[in-house]
Amino acid sequence: MQGGQISTQDETPVFSSPNSTYITSVERPEGNTLTGKQRRSIADALETLNAVQNLKTEALGSFDINGECYSLPKFSFRDKRVSDPIRIGIFSSIHGDEPAGAHAVISFLTELATQSELSFDYEIFAYPICNPTGFEDNSRHSRRGYDLNREFWKNSAEVEVQLLEHELRTHKFSGIIQLHADDTSDGIYGFVRGHTLTENLLRPALLEAGKILPRNINALIDGFAARDGIIYDLYEGILASPAEMNPVPFEIVFETPGNAPLDLQVKALVVALKTILTEYRKLISFAQDI
Ligand SMILES: [Zn+2]
Repeated sequence: MQGGQISTQDETPVFSSPNSTYITSVERPEGNTLTGKQRRSIADALETLNAVQNLKTEALGSFDINGECYSLPKFSFRDKRVSDPIRIGIFSSIHGDEPAGAHAVISFLTELATQSELSFDYEIFAYPICNPTGFEDNSRHSRRGYDLNREFWKNSAEVEVQLLEHELRTHKFSGIIQLHADDTSDGIYGFVRGHTLTENLLRPALLEAGKILPRNINALIDGFAARDGIIYDLYEGILASPAEMNPVPFEIVFETPGNAPLDLQVKALVVALKTILTEYRKLISFAQDI
């Protein structure tokens, strides 16, 4: 979630694995708007989810950007064995040039729907492509020129932000997980906010994901003081819970090194998501026992 300049394809090395099924880059002629096949396809990215059973699919919107119609894809999966599941919100690719998060959420949802122990006690709300025009253009900003992840809770006119704020208000998530990639970092790291026990969720997630990609252990990451890959501070205006939420939810921003092979970023993010859910379930049941 680095706050600097937008990287262009000319400057950013694009890694890809020989067997990768992911679309890693799109050609972006300087100053031109991409059309048709030049864009990264949202439909292609989401296609595998069509076959996933018991997944509720919605399109939030629609809204118009430069004369074209868009919506925000939303997927939810509910454990029907419990009457009052824990609601968790998962958000990715709000920076359109960070596609690993979207692919990770898609892969995670596929596993969630087939592995009943993973979904136990949860209702998962997933928003894999929070910035559809940026995702198509492989651009951090939306096509209207906004870093959407600096626009939250400040009466933004950007429709993507308004739609997501509505979701955050309506669902009152117990936890929020945001997936990002940082091309200035050589390792994984994360931000914590909200519930005081949040770092107890991020720490094991970094440990498990650290088996796939190295951890960034620098004392300063992205301009913030960090300890063992954990930052206890956040940018203003990022996607977050409404301020008045009670009880306070946990909020985690998980970052992969943006120049690492995409397959490994996806793997690391999926492991991180699974670990966070497992640890939170443990934490909740422990709290109920005391
Ligand atoms: Zn980001």
